[in-house]
Amino acid sequence: MNCRIIKNNLSAYQDKNLPEEKMLEIKNHLQMCSECFQSFAELDFTWEVLGQVEKFDSAPFFWTRLSQRIEEKENRKSLINPLQWFPIPVVTTAFLIFAFIVGVYFGKTIFHQSTSIQQTTIEQEVNGFLTTNSLDEYTGESLPDAYVSLMSENMQ
Ligand SMILES: [Zn+2]
Repeated sequence: MNCRIIKNNLSAYQDKNLPEEKMLEIKNHLQMCSECFQSFAELDFTWEVLGQVEKFDSAPFFWTRLSQRIEEKENRKSLINPLQWFPIPVVTTAFLIFAFIVGVYFGKTIFHQSTSIQQTTIEQEVNGFLTTNSLDEYTGESLPDAYVSLMSENMQ
């Protein structure tokens, strides 16, 4: 058998649709001839790929069902996490505004507490030792106001 005959019979060889004698002959040739073996390997690969395509075709609703399940999971996730309903910039802005309000509130509270302490004379003296010179210019405003006026002074 020459290479041309072998190649013509490769498909039948793969299907094992040849007499035992010819099967053995082609098998021996494939072990010796790299060119025919290459053709056989390509044929084998083609059938492997075709086999996979056939398997997917046998389950035509697979992808539909899969995408439905993914959608269901996504919907459930967004129900659990209400933050997902808002775009990220809105959430971030809301958080920054909240943080700013909390910061101003606590700044005022803490400063009012320290001013009420300063009203008693003994603690006023103690505070006189402890406070730094930068607070001497305190105008009686709230802490944020004092900060703003300090900043505008610096800018002038
Ligand atoms: Zn050959």
